[in-house]
Amino acid sequence: LPPMQSFYQGWLFISACLKQRKCKQVLASTRKLHAGAEGSKVSPSAAPERLPFCRVTEEDLAFFRKILPGRTIVDPDLVEPSNVDWLKSVRGSSEVLLRPQTTEEVSQILSYCNSRNLAVNPQGGNTGLVGGSVPVYDELILSTSLMNKILNFDSISGVLTCQAGCVLENLSFYLEERDYIMPLDLGAKGSCQIGGNVATNAGGLRLLRYGSLHGTVLGLELVLADGQVLDCLSTLRKDNTGYDLKQLFIGSEGTLGVITAVSILCPRKPKSVNVVFLGCETFEQLLKTFQLCKGMLGEILSAFEFLDSECMRLLNTHLKLPNPISDCPFYIVIETSGSDPTHDAQKLHNFLEEAMTSSLVSDGTVATEEAKIKALWSLRERVTEALTHDGFTHKYDISLPVERIYQLVTDMRKHLGNQAKSVVGYGHVGKTT
Ligand SMILES: Cc1cc2nc3c(=O)[nH]c(=O)nc-3n(C[C@H](O)[C@H](O)[C@H](O)COP(=O)(O)OP(=O)(O)OC[C@H]3O[C@@H](n4cnc5c(N)ncnc54)[C@H](O)[C@@H]3O)c2cc1C
Repeated sequence: LPPMQSFYQGWLFISACLKQRKCKQVLASTRKLHAGAEGSKVSPSAAPERLPFCRVTEEDLAFFRKILPGRTIVDPDLVEPSNVDWLKSVRGSSEVLLRPQTTEEVSQILSYCNSRNLAVNPQGGNTGLVGGSVPVYDELILSTSLMNKILNFDSISGVLTCQAGCVLENLSFYLEERDYIMPLDLGAKGSCQIGGNVATNAGGLRLLRYGSLHGTVLGLELVLADGQVLDCLSTLRKDNTGYDLKQLFIGSEGTLGVITAVSILCPRKPKSVNVVFLGCETFEQLLKTFQLCKGMLGEILSAFEFLDSECMRLLNTHLKLPNPISDCPFYIVIETSGSDPTHDAQKLHNFLEEAMTSSLVSDGTVATEEAKIKALWSLRERVTEALTHDGFTHKYDISLPVERIYQLVTDMRKHLGNQAKSVVGYGHVGKTT
């Protein structure tokens, strides 16, 4: 379902043996998801015929070895992890992994592949959850993992410019030392790369506060399928000179070219951060809490996330993460971040008092110290991981009007019956405009 104005985002995760049919074009090639990584039977409709791309020859490898000495990987054991996605639901059969370090090398690779009619699959941290990061057949994998240099940070404007292969968490560490933060944060931050974040238009936990990458990404450097380098690496917040081409590449999943560098506007590190973990009896109460929260916390509200009791069960069972409050059908993680600890604490106190006295929430706990904040956040961030321990996960990332998010979970439970081991709902409750 396409995101729409004034709609809200929620994520649904379903453990079931279903076939995905999402398709993606990589540069010149048409791609669809394919057989399950664990060898499930190929559905005739799940994968297209392999298009008439050429197969890699010894001469091709000789060319790649010349431009990427020691970084043209053909050892099957080393290529294997790049052929399987994070959820282990799809598998490709590429025999070549290319690891460029510079834009010039990416350009040479794509120009050569274009002239030789070789299909290419760009790959960042391989944490994507819709199968787009791995090949369908034998496409060459172009990994940006070695393109991990920070190119510039302007401490006055807060604009960071870096290569596309920088790992999100490393960028966060770098910025925090300089009193700034990344405008996005996700559970996959330890592995996902900024280029992959841009290519997937990742939302994440801070979207409610800092908006989407369409607003925070100021510039991109790109290499098109024929090797042409497109320099849209502006660092200006206001740039109304002609077409804003970079927007086309945000969310393009590698279909239009390879992102090689990103400049992004980073907010100042908040001086005070509080995290609250609350329990609600119904989803309706959860939504009322969201409304109350927006009204009472206003400008300091930085995240509002939810998970259901089934998620909590999986977190307890598979990751041994204890529930910090009493058992409830729904749980909320609220984060505030601001510049005045006393002011923020007072606002939060007023909000909690109102939420408790009006019986919107039945239990809760507050964290202000870093260790407890991390522990509460991990209950939301590690749900995806807990699911992977429970069996094959079929996952939808969807945007729906906020009041209808959970209806989809209950409908799917009814629809799937005992065909699914568990059907769970969790995600961001926030405006996506
Ligand atoms: C635990 C977990 C939590 C997550 N949480 C969120 C979340 O909160 N919000 C959200 O939106 N997503 C979330 N995701 C999914 C999210 O899309 C990815 O984690 C991340 O954005 C992908 O980055 P990556 O570097 O791993 O890209 P990959 O997985 O390697 O690639 C993803 C896609 O981008 C393309 N691509 C990668 N790099 C480039 C490049 N340099 N140029 C062109 N194309 C490229 C690939 O071809 C592929 O189509 C989560 C995933 C996990 C595992």
